[in-house]
Amino acid sequence: MPTHHVETDYLILGAGAMSMGFADVILTEDPTARIVMVDRHANPGGHWNDAYPFVRLHQPAAFYGLNSTPLGHGGEDLSGGADLVAYYRQAMDRFIRTGRLQFLPMSEYEGDGRIVSTVDPDRVTTVTAHRRIVDGTYMQVRVPSVCAPKYTIDPGVTVIPPNGLAQVRRPWERYVIIGAGKTAIDAILFLLGNQVNPDRIQWIAPNEAWLLDRAHMQPSIVLDSVVSMVESIADSTTIDEAFLELEQKGIVFRLDDQTLPTKWRCATVDRGELATLRRVEDVVRLGRVQDIGSEEIRLDRGTIPTVTDTLFVDCSANGLVQVDPHPLFSAGRVTLQSVFMCQQTFSAALLAHMELLDLSDERRNKICVPVPHPELTHDLASTLVATTQNMLSCNRHMALWLRRSRLYLGHHSAPHRYLLGSGKLAVINRRARVAMKGMLHKASAT
Ligand SMILES: Cc1cc2nc3c(=O)[nH]c(=O)nc-3n(C[C@H](O)[C@H](O)[C@H](O)COP(=O)(O)OP(=O)(O)OC[C@H]3O[C@@H](n4cnc5c(N)ncnc54)[C@H](O)[C@@H]3O)c2cc1C
Repeated sequence: MPTHHVETDYLILGAGAMSMGFADVILTEDPTARIVMVDRHANPGGHWNDAYPFVRLHQPAAFYGLNSTPLGHGGEDLSGGADLVAYYRQAMDRFIRTGRLQFLPMSEYEGDGRIVSTVDPDRVTTVTAHRRIVDGTYMQVRVPSVCAPKYTIDPGVTVIPPNGLAQVRRPWERYVIIGAGKTAIDAILFLLGNQVNPDRIQWIAPNEAWLLDRAHMQPSIVLDSVVSMVESIADSTTIDEAFLELEQKGIVFRLDDQTLPTKWRCATVDRGELATLRRVEDVVRLGRVQDIGSEEIRLDRGTIPTVTDTLFVDCSANGLVQVDPHPLFSAGRVTLQSVFMCQQTFSAALLAHMELLDLSDERRNKICVPVPHPELTHDLASTLVATTQNMLSCNRHMALWLRRSRLYLGHHSAPHRYLLGSGKLAVINRRARVAMKGMLHKASAT
């Protein structure tokens, strides 16, 4: 079969939530633009195609997805994984119907505009992108169903990804959940929601993270919560002090009041879920799992016994790794990254809008800088300060677009709260930056 050649304006790598968000704005705001999109998956939606069946958004659907198309039922509604896959499939069908977008599913991008089908190696497409190659694969999202665990497992031990939990057909004497992130939390809530006795559950949590209270992420008040978080950074001299103040304000909480968390990854939970999670008392805090044997589990800081009839649920994949920031706009290329803390879909839409503005790349890269996904507690300060700076600078260049974008956290605030919140950020931004520098200095000195 001869190689097929396509000329286009944008070649978008990946058809995950970020790539789809970028394509959506380009197609909506530039009626002439042509796009080719490529993805290994059969359907758009990226990691949502591989997710466990009980996955849901952890923040409201009101500000997730595509700028052009509402998702969910508004308010606090959280869409489920199947809803998200259907949402992106319908969007892709709409994109294709414009006649300006071509989707190459089940295909691997090999570099230099070359795309090879994953089901027939003779099907090769070469693409020339006259405007940009848009890299929607840079964030390297990983979910357990497509990542092998990093620890060793003895033969005879049963380890499944959380996807397998919904297929369990007989009760196990014990369920061991491995991982400290949102996926592990979801797996535990799934078991408890299905009436498993909490005494049967053991949670191997290698670290403790601060959690965001979902009540403070509701669309009408989420901008106020961001302002409050920046204020806590500005008012504190250490990052622990800032988190403790945020805990007092009720914006964040932790699972164990006796442990000071070391991680901050934007995991969002409500207080009902927190109370449910606390029903599991057997929480192992001995670091990461090294090896699972038939009689014991070896961890970084010790060994614990296990029983034969145990189902291990691997939730150890780091879904959103912290990748080194890369210039957002460079010659012939856009590298999709977050520019607002933990708001990937909004970031992708914003970058597409900026792409269409008559600006130099140098200017674009000055208006917004990448905000890498937070991992450790001190990342809260740097990500919030960079987010605030980006918000203020975008407000100077595209205030109306921001206010109208349903993905923007400020979109859902009443006009007076929007003005008040934006004004407060402008005032405290400098103080927060000074406080952040002091925190980082102290942290490096200890
Ligand atoms: C469980 C979970 C829950 C989340 N909940 C929320 C939430 O409530 N709110 C929120 O704002 N964010 C949430 N996020 C984060 C957000 O959904 C994701 O960060 C974002 O959607 C990631 O999308 P992406 O397009 O960057 O990556 P992906 O979904 O990973 O998409 C990248 C795509 O690129 C393809 N690809 C990679 N390399 C190649 C190649 N060489 N050739 C062809 N294709 C390739 C992959 O197949 C994949 O489909 C959540 C994340 C997870 C994991």
